[in-house]
Amino acid sequence: MLELLQSETPLSSWITEDTAESLLKPCTAVSLPLSKADEDTMKKMIDWVKVSQDQILNADKSLTEAIGIAAPQIGKNVQMYYILLPITNVDKTKVTYYEHALINPKITAKSNQVVAARYGEGCLSVKNKDHEGIVPRSYKIEVTGYDYFTRQNVKLVARGYEAIVFQHEQDHLEGHLFYHHINQENPWNTPEEWIIVDNQQPKITSDDEADVASANITPTNLIKINNDNKLNSKNIEPSTSKSKNLE
Ligand SMILES: [Zn+2]
Repeated sequence: MLELLQSETPLSSWITEDTAESLLKPCTAVSLPLSKADEDTMKKMIDWVKVSQDQILNADKSLTEAIGIAAPQIGKNVQMYYILLPITNVDKTKVTYYEHALINPKITAKSNQVVAARYGEGCLSVKNKDHEGIVPRSYKIEVTGYDYFTRQNVKLVARGYEAIVFQHEQDHLEGHLFYHHINQENPWNTPEEWIIVDNQQPKITSDDEADVASANITPTNLIKINNDNKLNSKNIEPSTSKSKNLE
């Protein structure tokens, strides 16, 4: 039985929707050691995600099942997020959980190789279905931050679906939302060189591993986000000549 880390039962009403301006603002850095308020924010995020994935506690599906949440989504504009990503093995006999509770995280390197979730991304804060489309992300990233569980600075490498989740949550800390990256003219356009992963099957296959070898990690500043939030890199710009409709 899941034991909550804090005293309040997670509710769908905790979630700030993207109609709020606070979701479009950069979050402030968290002071360490953690204040009681910041500690409580992290515990609320952990409880929210865990309850949302719990088949008994969330049997009525009152919470939208989540694999990640960022502090601004529960009304706290501070740099922290929590990820609990279940990854099922190929023959569906085992689920491995990738759990990260990071404070002041930063993406310090990104591959030029692009990855995207086949059916686009979802977000607890986005109810409007008009934002569908492919969201290009870096296939392989390096993340640094302060780990809530170990109370140490950490450096992590994530690939594929896990990297997508990290980039989605990191976006929230910088005032960006997933649909800011969607090509408005051709939302489902996927150039052949992009790696497409299934949202529900994030297991890295041996083919993906071969792609990792060719996915060069480059400093983050080589891939910039413009003021209009469109990705600005020739490797990431959608190509109209090799489009594939995934809709
Ligand atoms: Zn989100």
